[in-house]
Amino acid sequence: MIVGPGMHPGFFFRGTGKKENMDFSAFNLHPRVAAGVTAQGYVNPTPIQAQAIPKVMNGRDVMGLAQTGTGKTAAFVLPMLHRLVQGKQGRVRGLIVAPTRELAEQTHETVRSLGRKTRIRSVTVYGGVGVRGQEVKLRQGADIVVACPGRLLDLIGRGAVDLSRLEVLVLDEADHMFDMGFLPDIRRILGHLPRKRQTLLFSATMSGEIRRLAEEVLHDPVTVRVGVSAPAATVSHALYPVEPHLKTALLLDLLRKTDTESVLVFTRTKHRARRLGEQLAKSGYAAASLQGNLSQSRRQAALDGFRKGTYRILVATDIAARGIDVTRVSHVINYDIPNTTDAYIHRIGRTGRVARTGDAFTLVSHEDREMVRAIERILHGRIDRRTLDDFDYGVRPARKGKSPAQPPRRTACRVSA
Ligand code: AMP
Repeated sequence: MIVGPGMHPGFFFRGTGKKENMDFSAFNLHPRVAAGVTAQGYVNPTPIQAQAIPKVMNGRDVMGLAQTGTGKTAAFVLPMLHRLVQGKQGRVRGLIVAPTRELAEQTHETVRSLGRKTRIRSVTVYGGVGVRGQEVKLRQGADIVVACPGRLLDLIGRGAVDLSRLEVLVLDEADHMFDMGFLPDIRRILGHLPRKRQTLLFSATMSGEIRRLAEEVLHDPVTVRVGVSAPAATVSHALYPVEPHLKTALLLDLLRKTDTESVLVFTRTKHRARRLGEQLAKSGYAAASLQGNLSQSRRQAALDGFRKGTYRILVATDIAARGIDVTRVSHVINYDIPNTTDAYIHRIGRTGRVARTGDAFTLVSHEDREMVRAIERILHGRIDRRTLDDFDYGVRPARKGKSPAQPPRRTACRVSA
């Protein structure tokens, strides 16, 4: 099934219901912020930006329902920069809380690139790395802090960050924060913030918990909604039915027969991610795996390598992949089907990003039938079932104790860097 731009004339996303022709000048952003937008090469706002930016600039609290890949980061970063550039700088007036360090780093990068013509300083704060460097940067003066909850609380405890002048709070990917058990930390952080402030809450989904959090933290909010529970409209989806023991062989054959740029492969467990990464590398692919057990530096090296194209394939679990923003992912391949439809949307949110098209392939076996039906329900259509020509679907499972079936032949190094 392909849901493409052709079905949504004039724009790339679902959920606007109207053609968007506006450009960024309509917002009247501060000239130094507008200059950052131009330097970044953005021409037209995405739907979430078109809806949210004017409301945030008017000082309203906003509940933003948007998945990653919709341009949601700039939807809160631009009005935040617009506000902060106009007041006294050098103290923390903006706080962005994110569930993962990757998301925190990316958001910080967005602040830096869109704010390159301003003097706004942003500092990231997250665990897994030394606290001293972050403490020093905070003491040198920051306007925006982009933080993961636990480390931020540590630094508040150490007196390294003063949030008493905070004007704008953003809680990003609130649904992930909830999944990862961060809500108690968030509540503790809220206790350190001025009550009078602007609060923006972003989430891909709206569960009971998120609604309760919104009621607690937002004051008279407006809700903006883009593509909720519907994946980016530029992604095409396909299923590859296969017996579980033939998944690796089929994946290798699929990679051989498909023209890919960079490929993100999802597995159910970190063990499977590591093993599959090794098998792909052995077969000649420039592949790395990302799983929870990696040290921060190895994790960063895998991500940087994937971003730069040194690794053309990255194998990851859902948790490990959170916050990955690789604009050029051409294919997401679900080696294992996800456990929930939301996870499916998050996974494929990594491809078909703004103005690009992408493919989402899912390897499926009999036991995945229920989940396939659920995914088809949220996509409002049947997904194509595909088979690979010349692939031997009849190979029997190896006897117990043996390693999983190996590919019929070694692959050429076609997609390696
Ligand atoms: P996000 O949903 O915030 O993770 O953004 C997804 C990607 O879209 C990022 O790579 C952004 O740089 C890019 N992006 C955001 N806004 C725009 C825009 N108005 N025009 C083109 N690209 C954009």
